[in-house]
Amino acid sequence: MPLSDNAVLRNIAAIHARMQQAQSSMIAARQAELIAVSKGQPFSRLELALEAGQREFGENRVQEAAEKWPQLRAQYSGITLHLIGPLQTNKVKQAVALFDVIHTLDREKLARELAQEMMRSGRNLSCFVQVNTGEEAQKGGISPAETAEFVRFCRDQLKLLITGLMCIPPVGDHPAPHFGLLRKLAQPLGLSNLSMGMSGDFETAVRFGATHIRVGTAIFGERDIS
Ligand SMILES: *Cc1c(COP(=O)(O)O)cnc(C)c1O
Repeated sequence: MPLSDNAVLRNIAAIHARMQQAQSSMIAARQAELIAVSKGQPFSRLELALEAGQREFGENRVQEAAEKWPQLRAQYSGITLHLIGPLQTNKVKQAVALFDVIHTLDREKLARELAQEMMRSGRNLSCFVQVNTGEEAQKGGISPAETAEFVRFCRDQLKLLITGLMCIPPVGDHPAPHFGLLRKLAQPLGLSNLSMGMSGDFETAVRFGATHIRVGTAIFGERDIS
């Protein structure tokens, strides 16, 4: 799909304006980070975003990220790469080497493997625990009722750097109650980061206190690869 040269820049600017608008209704809110979700997007569009000054990017597959980002990191400084898709334990080593932040810590086995690999490599990535706020059988994540215990286990036993919670509301549900639940779970745990909100609902997420929104198609247009 063709996308005119400055469309990516225009889209990023428009999203920032909408974020600010959504944020203006809140008191003393922290400015949310805009993570540009670049999965399935051609190289040329990533370069447009980088040229526009975007530095936070999200990918959902380790392999795809490995094919794109080492080269782009050599060309542009200050890039932060977020893993936002499910992580298989056999990809942990590669993921820890490649990414800066993991948003999808969703089970005990993965937590153990990540802790071990971070210890071994000396790279201490910050992690979000993914919460299955809709309690969907097919979706990854810790159930809301078990979140506190899991976060404490990761922090206290495994010494993982848990900085926040992440959720993906069920398709078709109104997202607001899920965002509200995530914030409610994070507060007593002292977790200040909330990764929530995508192209269709990031303004709602910002109103509920999102600190990291993950936006793909609203920046880059439709994906070529899903
Ligand atoms: C693909 C993806 C996004 C971005 O979705 P858009 O609707 O294109 O903004 C955000 N979060 C996760 C976890 C994703 O997999």
